[in-house]
Amino acid sequence: MRFSAFSIFREALRGNRGWTPQWREPQPKPHYDVIIVGGGGHGLATAYYLAKEFGVTNVAVLEKSWLGSGNIGRNTTIIRSNYLLPGNEPFYEMSMKLWEGLEQDFNYNAMVSQRGVLNLCHTDGQRDAFARRGNAMLMEGAGAELLDREGVRKFAPYLNFNHARFPILGGLLQKRGGTARHDAVAWGFGRGADMRGVDIIQNCEVTGIIRDESGAVTGVETSKGRIGCNKLGLAAAGHSSHVAQMAGLRLPIESHVLQAFVSEGLKPVIDSVITFGMGHFYISQSDKGGLVFGGDIDGYNSYARRGGLAMVEHVFEQGISMLPGLSRSKVLRAWGGVMDMSMDGSPIIDKTPIPNLYLNAGWCYGGFKATPASGFSFAHLLAKNESHPTARAMRLDRFERGYQVDETGNGPQPNLH
Ligand code: FAD
Repeated sequence: MRFSAFSIFREALRGNRGWTPQWREPQPKPHYDVIIVGGGGHGLATAYYLAKEFGVTNVAVLEKSWLGSGNIGRNTTIIRSNYLLPGNEPFYEMSMKLWEGLEQDFNYNAMVSQRGVLNLCHTDGQRDAFARRGNAMLMEGAGAELLDREGVRKFAPYLNFNHARFPILGGLLQKRGGTARHDAVAWGFGRGADMRGVDIIQNCEVTGIIRDESGAVTGVETSKGRIGCNKLGLAAAGHSSHVAQMAGLRLPIESHVLQAFVSEGLKPVIDSVITFGMGHFYISQSDKGGLVFGGDIDGYNSYARRGGLAMVEHVFEQGISMLPGLSRSKVLRAWGGVMDMSMDGSPIIDKTPIPNLYLNAGWCYGGFKATPASGFSFAHLLAKNESHPTARAMRLDRFERGYQVDETGNGPQPNLH
């Protein structure tokens, strides 16, 4: 259906009977050139770019639940490219550039909002580290501003400038960072892939990976039967280890739950994203008015999408200490998502040692912002059999070789989500 102000009005009067589904509900074909496991942001973006940029359209995305039911619909929507390391910063900046053109590219309103991301700093050491990070960002063209205490006060006057434990010394601001509407990102990529011939098959759980005598992957067992493929791409996020294990592959990944919270709708009060890394707390305000906030992962391994009370208490305690006004709002909802935490905090986009099996995993807390670049790079790998130039540091064998991309590993996160 084509949209115009008039057609939207007419549909409202006719009970919205003229709206058509945004993607088909196909039955699986016996065989595809490429099968992608996981209809989250990364799986759908991969399918979209495979079809659009690389002309590979005989593709299926297999999703065990409904499209967007995983972390793509559970995250706190922050996008940014404020990384330090050479293996990371160009990749996340590529993603930021793709975000900037995404809505035109897939012709869908993903509510990309470059409202600025401010990381607070509280010690001289942290400020030095932020200066270094800011320089790395400037060199990559990402833009960065180092604010002093007064600069932060001007930018976010509602913060607690008398914090006894973590006095605000300044902050690192990336004005191009911000938020995007997470589920619309899944829908936009899904619709764009479907329009180009990709089969998105929901309620289709992959239960096994089929290999021939030589060990090469030839297809998958699913809740809708056996489906063959030339190449199999895993993009199962929190269940990466579980799915890879079906092919006998053990990954350097642990699964943890990450929680988030949203308040009742309030008038506009926070017009950017603020991270208080020392307190493991970050916050923004949605366009509906809810304060959206969260903290760090629960520290135990889990596949449950429900976290513990200790982390709830910690997030609220730290949040209110830096943003006292938060104590006056009512929290509407809390939820969790399962994170595939890699051992160095960085993702994996690579071929695996098993022929025809490709891996996109280990996105930890930060995979939403990476969705476009991840999809583009994984599509490049699947189509051309070689890593995209900006994703070369994200090889699987880096753990064996000792070339880790250790940016958000253990310890207090200076730079949440
Ligand atoms: P998912 O949407 O989880 O997709 C994986 C899909 O695989 C799921 O739909 C799942 O059902 C499917 N699947 C699993 N097993 C199978 C199987 N056997 N067969 C078929 N399908 C299967 N990142 C940011 O950059 N910014 C943020 O602000 C941010 N905040 C976050 C807040 C929270 C609370 C959480 C939970 C995450 C946050 N993240 C954030 C991280 C980000 O959401 C993830 O890194 C990213 O979404 C993971 O990629 P994905 O979208 O493909 O995952």
